[in-house]
Amino acid sequence: MNSNKSDGRRVCTPSHVGGIVIGAPAPVVIQSMTTTPTLDVEASAAQTISIAEAGASMVRLTAQGVSHAAALGEIHAEVRAAGIDVPLVADIHFNPAAAFEAARHVEKVRINPGNFFDPGRTFRKMDFTDEEYAAELEKIREKFVPFLELCKAEGTALRIGVNHGSLSDRIMSRFGDGAEGMVESALEYLRICRDENFNDVVVSIKASDVSVMTDTVRLLVEGLDAEGMAYPLHLGVTEAGNALEGRVKSAVGIGSLLADGIGDTIRVSLSEAPENEIPAAKAIAAHAEENLKANVAFGTIRRNRSIGRFETEEACGMGGLLDTAVFCGDVPESEDIRVIEASSPGCIAQVRKALKDNTDRRPVIIVCSYPDIDNRDELVMSAAADLGALLLEGYRDGIGVRSPLLSEDEAAELCRTIIQACGLARFKAEIVACPGCGRTLFALPDVLDKVKSEFEHLRHLKIAVMGCIVNGPGEMAGANYGYVGAAAGKISLYRGIDCVMKNIPQEEAVERLKELIKSDGQWVDK
Ligand code: SF4
Repeated sequence: MNSNKSDGRRVCTPSHVGGIVIGAPAPVVIQSMTTTPTLDVEASAAQTISIAEAGASMVRLTAQGVSHAAALGEIHAEVRAAGIDVPLVADIHFNPAAAFEAARHVEKVRINPGNFFDPGRTFRKMDFTDEEYAAELEKIREKFVPFLELCKAEGTALRIGVNHGSLSDRIMSRFGDGAEGMVESALEYLRICRDENFNDVVVSIKASDVSVMTDTVRLLVEGLDAEGMAYPLHLGVTEAGNALEGRVKSAVGIGSLLADGIGDTIRVSLSEAPENEIPAAKAIAAHAEENLKANVAFGTIRRNRSIGRFETEEACGMGGLLDTAVFCGDVPESEDIRVIEASSPGCIAQVRKALKDNTDRRPVIIVCSYPDIDNRDELVMSAAADLGALLLEGYRDGIGVRSPLLSEDEAAELCRTIIQACGLARFKAEIVACPGCGRTLFALPDVLDKVKSEFEHLRHLKIAVMGCIVNGPGEMAGANYGYVGAAAGKISLYRGIDCVMKNIPQEEAVERLKELIKSDGQWVDK
């Protein structure tokens, strides 16, 4: 991967979106998305303005149909009339006609290659001959080139946005549902952009599993480099949820990549008011800038994908292949245990440097200190970004956090949340939840709080809360159970990928989910 010599960021061909430049050396761009129905022009314009005033440099709105895409023109006009020049982005799934309409009204269009021209996944045809596969690709090219021509004519930028869980049957048939499939899904469209000399493109690959997201983005960077493509990268963890868990997952995923110079625009997806995403994103970006500086200074930028667990011998109940241990208070080094103390800024670089060319086989406890951070949210983001990056990299024996802002119990809780965000252990149920958008048909933040309070103690389960039936089921990321918005006031419940209760009244849905879990023998009392 090429780096910008001055600041360590990956070199790319900047994408221009309205007055905004995405790509180094321009600063990392922070964006968010509305949750209002797009056809409600007044509410959508007001929320767009509010998100922009909270500090976002770009705002995305869903456009599920041509009428929604046309409404973006009215929203755009209202936002500009209010003196707000933030570029607007249309979010398109399953509907190329909506993309064509939206490209006339907004500065950027996001398409999902898993369902743009390919039909969404059905698992019905999973066997393609080489000829059939090539013919499908040619069909995509024939349909996509006119769209690129329209975008060129309108000065509209593009995001090729792949999501784990929404790959087409065609891609899965050849590359699987994992990292290779997601990367190929993006590259197919990017190759057409390159061939057509269309350069205002950003690419993203998102997943709700943080380690899948980071590993796949690193693989994408390798794939782009191998093909000589230098498109800027949009980073995000999907279905991160809310509160501490949502912030920690986002900080681990986004922060660990930015610290290695990967990423040009970010969205922290929270199942909360979209304005709440902005301070979280700013904290992640600011901390990552410090980490990147330190990584450049220490020569510790990491390009590669996962290198597996850092090898140590088991001792004192830690190390070897044992679960990551959590430490509070003083952690004395001994002949059996090694302690690495790092102090922010630059914890990642300090630890990488200390463990470079390591021959010591003692288990390693990594303790990160934050003596100068006096804001609790910033502290959470910083610790998650540092320790999460190191855990994902393979330094997994033991971790601790020190800060004057945290009691020992709070520090331990934060460490456990970081470990769970990295997928290394479960201390509570894994609740994944989409952030909601204009397709959401219920008060998602309230439902999420209720689901958490009822089910969080079921730590053997993964439960999804998804705003809509169109994207929700595909993107539930292997959840055991799903609560999915089906229609206004109606919820469908899923067991795995099977819909087992359709269109039940929303007011009954949490109780019915509880009954379902009980009838499956999965319930345990608090
Ligand atoms: S799953 Fe959630 S965020 Fe995604 S399209 Fe549906 S409502 Fe919107």
